[in-house]
Amino acid sequence: MRIEPGKRWRNWGRSQEARPQHLVHATTPDEVSEAVAFARDKNLPLKTVGAGHSFTSIAATDGVQLDISALDGVLAVDGPLVTLGAGTNLYQLPALLGEHGLALENMGDIDKQTIAGAISTGTHGTGAQFGGLATQVEALTLVTADGSTLHLDAGDELLPAARVGLGALGVITDVTLRCVPEFVMRAVERPEPLEEVLDGWLERAASVDHFEFYWFPHTTQALTKTNTRMPADTPRAPQAPLAAWVDDEFMPNGLYVLVCNLGVVAPGLTPPLNRLANKLVAEREVTDGWHEVFTSPRRVRFREMEYALPVEAVPDALREIRAAIDANNWRITFPVEVRVAAADDNWLSTAYGRQSGYIAVHRYYREDPTAYFEAVEAIARAHGGRPHWGKMHFRTADDLRPAYPRFDDFLAARDRLDPDRVFANDYLERVLGR
Ligand SMILES: Cc1cc2nc3c(=O)[nH]c(=O)nc-3n(C[C@H](O)[C@H](O)[C@H](O)COP(=O)(O)OP(=O)(O)OC[C@H]3O[C@@H](n4cnc5c(N)ncnc54)[C@H](O)[C@@H]3O)c2cc1C
Repeated sequence: MRIEPGKRWRNWGRSQEARPQHLVHATTPDEVSEAVAFARDKNLPLKTVGAGHSFTSIAATDGVQLDISALDGVLAVDGPLVTLGAGTNLYQLPALLGEHGLALENMGDIDKQTIAGAISTGTHGTGAQFGGLATQVEALTLVTADGSTLHLDAGDELLPAARVGLGALGVITDVTLRCVPEFVMRAVERPEPLEEVLDGWLERAASVDHFEFYWFPHTTQALTKTNTRMPADTPRAPQAPLAAWVDDEFMPNGLYVLVCNLGVVAPGLTPPLNRLANKLVAEREVTDGWHEVFTSPRRVRFREMEYALPVEAVPDALREIRAAIDANNWRITFPVEVRVAAADDNWLSTAYGRQSGYIAVHRYYREDPTAYFEAVEAIARAHGGRPHWGKMHFRTADDLRPAYPRFDDFLAARDRLDPDRVFANDYLERVLGR
């Protein structure tokens, strides 16, 4: 275990900042136990930090910051079950799993997160038959507040609590994922009229493997993305390098910096710029590896809020968001992203007990997102929405409790595993209580 003075820490979205007193690097599970003992000895809280890609302060601490990035790589493989060090970043997985002919079943939009950080906040991708990353977790090991090790396997009562544990139950040291045979995907992206996409939402979401769409505010168009899973030996047809650069790099990153910065200095330009961006989005079809199709780089910083709603509520909620943007005359440069996920049984999963439609709203990081996000939250709440734990929201324990049937069971597990609140921070106090 290596201990150094804490340094200024900031998250990717630049919405959170902290100054931990100590930064501890642990390279083995035993060193994680030592780090917990160190924090207890100093009477300080301890937070493990992943890749800092949460927009909320869920990973922030002014006590002991624990870095477990050295706990990475494959620890064991048993058929489709792969045990990984908890600090493994998702971008390592194509190579690590590929050696065994395996793949992740589903993924979100990016691959920068650590596996422990991603599951702890309920990170998800899209696909009506596919749950979030945490649903792929067959087992995990935690170091709890007394420094002891707790291994949770399928069937253990606490596994559904620990899979989406918000970092509140202990430090995860390894995660066993149920993987699938490697596959490729055919991706079809095309602009379509928003109203047609909303009218067909339920059917489209149910009839393909992975459906999602982006709507650019101030336009009547949506960009739909339909991904179909194909056998691993399907010939790949990636985009030509120049077209790929335009679609994956210039459009979402280079052009966006321009659009966002112009939007900050001259908000009136946002609607025409969005219409222009929308026009530049061309239809494209690509067949490539699972990882290449699921994820893409995000180099323009933004802040995000995302709500999980009952899947059938998505069209009405989106129309209400559009009306709120118009009524308030907001200039919104970033598209609204809409996805779907299967129901699951993880106690604090945003998709607990119901198939969910996800609506994500974004603002450039140099713009104040508060009014827009508050309005979207009010709309989502009226539809029974649950906020993503890693993305901005304004909810508290009192109003989250009724949204989660197993909320009090989770609190009881927290009382048992961390009675002295070694793993507490301000965010957990807000969303779970003291
Ligand atoms: C550009 C961008 C794109 C994104 N895209 C998506 C998306 O497509 N879908 C989606 O659902 N989300 C998405 N997110 C949100 C992101 O997936 C989550 O916030 C995720 O938790 C970040 O993982 P991390 O490794 O950065 O964890 P951090 O943000 O560093 O930490 C998150 C939580 O996990 C805890 N934690 C980390 N490691 C451990 C451990 N070993 N043991 C116990 N607790 C631990 C931390 O203490 C904290 O509570 C996106 C975020 C960004 C910035």
